[in-house]
Amino acid sequence: MKKIGVFGGTFNPVHKGHEQAAVDFYKKFNLSKLIVIPSNIPPHKQADEKILPAQRLEMCRICFNSGKYQGYNIEVSDIEIKKDGVSYTYDTLKFIREIYPGDEIYFLIGSDMFLYLGHWHRYRELLEMCVFVVAFRYNSEKRGNQKNCENCENFENSENQNCGEAAEIYDSLIKQGYKIKLLENVPFEISSTELRDRIYNNGCGRRDWAGLEKYLSPEVLDYIKEKKIYIL
Ligand code: ATP
Repeated sequence: MKKIGVFGGTFNPVHKGHEQAAVDFYKKFNLSKLIVIPSNIPPHKQADEKILPAQRLEMCRICFNSGKYQGYNIEVSDIEIKKDGVSYTYDTLKFIREIYPGDEIYFLIGSDMFLYLGHWHRYRELLEMCVFVVAFRYNSEKRGNQKNCENCENFENSENQNCGEAAEIYDSLIKQGYKIKLLENVPFEISSTELRDRIYNNGCGRRDWAGLEKYLSPEVLDYIKEKKIYIL
């Protein structure tokens, strides 16, 4: 039985926080393959007019097909983007299950998204279909400080935002028998929102491309510059 990892998101743009979580996920769970799936119109987010879905897909491709991932079996899939309209993770994972019958599906999710799992379409069936793996995200401003459940310490150690709430959801789902694992990664503090803002707000003056190298792979940064994404 092989382990197939799935990592979905908007990837607007794909950044080093995503890359680090993907690599940690791949290594920790000894995956045979990782499928990165940029979403089309995510149910919980507004469509962004400054970028085309095909450009988000392309950024994921140039990022994960670059030389540094040569030793990894990573596929960037267009299954959600080529579908019209809203894609639910439930439908995507059902489709992947059909392609890999008999294999175990691992689904990577950041702790911020995990907080909203209860609102996802058919989330209980989703939890039954695959092993959920929660990656820690860091946010010192919103850091929770209450310790009110047995796994809170794990989340607290990660300096994860809303740690109490995430840990409570985790505990409750584990008690209900769902397979949820923690990536226990060292968080990389960055979000796509922050990067979009930084590129856009610097538009009137000198653009700090060098400062962005810390968060974006060189190939993705070149693509953003070339296509003038987030600038117009
Ligand atoms: P945005 O700021 O536009 O909301 P984002 O940076 O949160 O974007 P998404 O594409 O929405 O990125 O995230 C895809 C998945 O990757 C989600 O499960 C999210 O929680 C996770 N993720 C995003 N950034 C990080 C990070 N720095 N570390 C770990 N996981 C992350």
